[in-house]
Amino acid sequence: MSSVAERALAVDTRALRAGNRRALAKAITLVESSLERHRDEAQAVLEDILPDSGNSIRIGISGVPGVGKSTFIEAFGLDLIGRGKRVAVLAVDPSSPIHGGSILGDKTRMELLSRSEQAFIRPSPSGGALGGVAEKTRESILLCEAAGYDVVLVETVGVGQSEFEVAAMVDFFLVLMIPNAGDELQGIKKGIMEMVDGLVINKADGASLDLARTAQRHYQNAFHLLRHGGDWSPQVLTCSALKKTQLGEVWGMIEAYQAQALASGGFEKKRARQSVDWMNKLVHEQLENLLRQNPAVKSAWPALKERVWRGETTPYLAARQLIGLLR
Ligand code: GDP
Repeated sequence: MSSVAERALAVDTRALRAGNRRALAKAITLVESSLERHRDEAQAVLEDILPDSGNSIRIGISGVPGVGKSTFIEAFGLDLIGRGKRVAVLAVDPSSPIHGGSILGDKTRMELLSRSEQAFIRPSPSGGALGGVAEKTRESILLCEAAGYDVVLVETVGVGQSEFEVAAMVDFFLVLMIPNAGDELQGIKKGIMEMVDGLVINKADGASLDLARTAQRHYQNAFHLLRHGGDWSPQVLTCSALKKTQLGEVWGMIEAYQAQALASGGFEKKRARQSVDWMNKLVHEQLENLLRQNPAVKSAWPALKERVWRGETTPYLAARQLIGLLR
């Protein structure tokens, strides 16, 4: 409303709301910045667009490298655009904060999708000092929603912590698998099965079709043995991202989930729980930052470490002493 307030923001949020991709990209860059000053600017932008966020279905997509994630996202994204949707694709790359390399970002990916006016594709943010990659992606989701994207796909790799982080920020968590006869739960980490809402056996084409169907039965049985939190029973489907077959079924599954979760109140509840968990995590992170930046704590830390190392005091007492310096 007030042009003064709008001018004070680092991003033209009116253009962002109107779906301007440049404004959206700029806002995401701000959110991803690790400069303290940008952090404050980003929060002001987020606060401004918050009332316009939330109106999408957030879908996490994971799977081991080579399973066909980019092929699937491109085909699925174009299929959704054909249904009149606007599709944003974000990525959480587990390797970028660790050694600067990336699993997701290196190849030229999703060329056709990226050419569509109805799509917005953003590679994984690189890790920064303030907050992790996943935290930035959470905020980017809100920005994409305010820019009018109906479907937000968050891609990650079934490696490390990122899978759990993505599952904790989406409405529907989808894992892609490769047909593999008789194998037990290949590549699925303990604890992930409980977070999966849908499993799709990709590459169900050509000679792999039978294998894919066998794998489908196998996983369906595995899910029957597991208790999934909530009313939804995870489904197992097959598809071919390459041949673009059964992509409609995958969307149908997600729509069925959404309809059920909205009717039961589970949809809102899951989002609310995710927000509160996120807040709690931020409190821990910010406390730790306060601690690490406090001059008294900073100067006392090395000597206390030394004393613990030598066995002259207990870790508990040393920790208490450091925390005491904060007060
Ligand atoms: P990502 O590493 O998970 O992103 O996997 P890619 O999308 O890059 O795919 C890895 C390889 O699998 C590529 O050579 C794709 O062409 C191939 N691929 C992906 N989807 C399918 C599919 O549905 N069927 C077949 N036969 N090959 C596929």
